[in-house]
Amino acid sequence: TENEVTLQFPSQSSNEGFIRSAVACFAAQMDPTLNELEDIKTAVSEAATNAIVHAYPDRIGKVTVKVRICTEQVLEITVRDYGRGIPDVEKARQPMFTTGGEERSGMGFTIMESFMDSLKVRSVAGRGTTVVMKK
Ligand code: ATP
Ligand code: MG
Repeated sequence: TENEVTLQFPSQSSNEGFIRSAVACFAAQMDPTLNELEDIKTAVSEAATNAIVHAYPDRIGKVTVKVRICTEQVLEITVRDYGRGIPDVEKARQPMFTTGGEERSGMGFTIMESFMDSLKVRSVAGRGTTVVMKK
């Protein structure tokens, strides 16, 4: 049952819709409920938006999204960028923490955490960020 796909794209916000749909399409082979699929789409779009908005504030950079069916029941999504990184991950994961100013609410990580069963964030300043989610 193991199966995976990796998508690679430049950090343009116009790609966000495609990523969201592509991940949902791939996940559909696990026969998820509509609710589960909505949760997955929401979580992946938060992670992809972060890579698009925060990782490369003043340039376009590479983003990869890997979707892996681990078992019949477990889906793993990895969103990776090679951007500026997060200096303090623990702090960044707090609800309402944002460096995005007025137009951001600082709820992305909180949403990923609550809609998925697990969330891991690894980041190296100046090197990039990897977010791994399972459901
Ligand atoms: P929202 O998601 O509600 O629009 P937000 O993006 O600021 O707001 P989170 O998604 O929770 O909130 O992220 C919190 C903070 O972590 C961001 O403001 C940013 O400083 C940092 N961050 C998140 N993802 C990345 C990333 N891929 N690269 C660099 N910094 C990031
Ligand atoms: Mg966010």
